[in-house]
Amino acid sequence: MQNSAQIRVRFAPSPTGFLHVGGLRTALYNYLFARKNGGVFVLRIEDTDRNRYVPGAVDSLITMLRWAGLDYDEGPAAGGDFGPYIQSERLTLYQAHVQRLLDQGNAYRCFCTPERLEEMRRKQEKEKSSFKYDRHCLFLSDTEIQTHLSKNSPHVIRLKVPDGETFTAADEVRGEVEFSSERVDDQILLKSDGYPTYHLANVVDDHLMNITHVIRGEEWLSSMPKHLLLYRYFGWNVPKFAHLPLLLNPDRSKLSKRQGDVAVEDYRAKGYLKEALINFIALLGWNPGDEQEIFTMPELIAKFSLPDINKAGAIFNIEKLNWLNFEHLRRKSDAEVLPLLREELAQSAYKDKTFPDDYLLKVIHVMRERMSFIRDLIEKSPYFFDAPGSYDPDAVRKRWMSQTPGQMKSLAEEFSRLRDPRKDDYENALHKTAASLATPNGTLIHPLRLALSGRGGGPGVFEILEILGKEESIARIHHAIHTISVPS
Ligand code: GLU
Repeated sequence: MQNSAQIRVRFAPSPTGFLHVGGLRTALYNYLFARKNGGVFVLRIEDTDRNRYVPGAVDSLITMLRWAGLDYDEGPAAGGDFGPYIQSERLTLYQAHVQRLLDQGNAYRCFCTPERLEEMRRKQEKEKSSFKYDRHCLFLSDTEIQTHLSKNSPHVIRLKVPDGETFTAADEVRGEVEFSSERVDDQILLKSDGYPTYHLANVVDDHLMNITHVIRGEEWLSSMPKHLLLYRYFGWNVPKFAHLPLLLNPDRSKLSKRQGDVAVEDYRAKGYLKEALINFIALLGWNPGDEQEIFTMPELIAKFSLPDINKAGAIFNIEKLNWLNFEHLRRKSDAEVLPLLREELAQSAYKDKTFPDDYLLKVIHVMRERMSFIRDLIEKSPYFFDAPGSYDPDAVRKRWMSQTPGQMKSLAEEFSRLRDPRKDDYENALHKTAASLATPNGTLIHPLRLALSGRGGGPGVFEILEILGKEESIARIHHAIHTISVPS
């Protein structure tokens, strides 16, 4: 049941490519606001600019929102009482609404040719004034209009902006904002192909979808007077607005691809946890006014509020994201890391191998202090997933002496006598072998690590032994004895 006091917000992306981190922030703030207030979070696809439409973009947007945990209540593929939620499926609605404006005299047909508009633009550019339609067609007589229509002249429909007016509106982030009508263009509402522009479709849909709060990026602030005018002409209640601060590069320029990744999917591909990315994005322009920096989604929902959004641009600092990623990873239990490791394995060179859960849990347990990303578990310790294919030449030079193969053979023999060994048993066996060979423990430990892992460093060698198990460990020792060439 629709409750008239219920908060309804929307994320209204245009499917022009990938989901931008700025888009994720807008979606997140809408989501948090809805969840905090028991409201409804709508996804609406604003695809009326056919020149910028990218096939597949809607699916990838939805995939990214779901990955990030921003489940929407209404929208494409979810349904709802206010659909369709894709603007290109709502064209007749916009056309009917624009007709209302024409009938009222609040909009007018414009038959200006692209050539005429271009010339006007050039002239205004020369005069260094920002582009504003000169209202040539506002003054056409009825007969002139009828003549054009009977000739099927291509035309657009423009908003009639009153002269000499100051629009004021309250923005939840910026407070009172003011716009002079002198600076507002007679915006095209309906294009000659029958498609609405963003402004018309956006306002009509926000109204028809009962949107109570419009939370969106600052770049849309300048559109507000046009939108306010449309609400007035249609006689509709104006929703509350909150314009979110710009995202900036560390040098305070507008966040751009040139200085780093801006697509959410790039961060996912790099292995950032969604919890870390969400936490990071949440703090780009919002903080609850205390010292807390690490938030889970439920904590964000509990603390989020529009008045705590900052006006000043938010700097995108990748070091902070890395730190948050590390912190969120640290907070996960081994069991929570397990499915993430399985996902990574499925995309790795080991995708065709099977590993039991308890084996992987042991790997996670010994490696977790050494990882910043899940994939580090594989990249820093590939030897848990396959026997080493080669041995680090530096470590070989330092650790594999002429006497090493004989010593390793004795060690392997000692190991083979152990029954169900744990790491302490391996350790005792190594000490015993070292004593009987009258050699320090280190002369066995380092080459043993090399034989098991191919590497010179890593977690404790007895832990590696326990994880790999006796058979595998002994096989690796023998393989190393036969493969590593002893310095002459
Ligand atoms: N379609 C616009 C965009 O791509 C939506 C702006 C708004 O939320 O009003 O960002």
